Amino acid sequence: MTSLDNHIYPIGVVAKMLDVSVQTLHLYERKGLILTRKTETGYRIFNEKDIERLKCIRRFIEEEGLNLQGIKKLMAMLPCWIINENCKSDDYKTCPAYTELTAPCWALPEKPSVCQETDCYICPVYQSPVDCKKIKGYLHQIK
Ligand code: SF4
Repeated sequence: MTSLDNHIYPIGVVAKMLDVSVQTLHLYERKGLILTRKTETGYRIFNEKDIERLKCIRRFIEEEGLNLQGIKKLMAMLPCWIINENCKSDDYKTCPAYTELTAPCWALPEKPSVCQETDCYICPVYQSPVDCKKIKGYLHQIK
C-alpha cells in the first residue's frame, strides 16, 4: 500500500464502474497502459488514481478515437527524462525511453538503468497521465 491509497477497489467493481469487461482491464495491463498492484493473495486492486487513469484511457478511446496502440505511443512520448529527477545527466540520450517510441518507459522490455531501483507505479512519470490534460503540458516541455 502507498500514500496513493485512500479507497481501494477490486477489478470487478472497477470494470463495472467504467462499463467495460474485466478482460478489457487485463488487456490494458498487457499493453502496458496500466500497472496494477495485487493483494497478498493475488487479487488486483485499484485506487482512486488508478480509476482516474482508466477514465482517461476510456476518454482517449471514446472521445478522441484513439486505439490502444495510439494511446501507448502517446504515453511513450512523455518526456520521462524531464519528469524523472533521477535523469540528471545526458545519459538519457542513449536510453530507449528517449530514443524509442515503442512503449512508455515503464512498459519497456528492459527497465532503464537509471530507474532500476525505482518502483514505476509511484514514479511521477507513470502517475502523470492520470490527468489527461497534463499530457499536453508535458509534451510542450520537449524541445
Ligand atoms: S521509474 Fe519507471 S516510470 Fe519512472 S522514469 Fe523510470 S522507467 Fe519510467
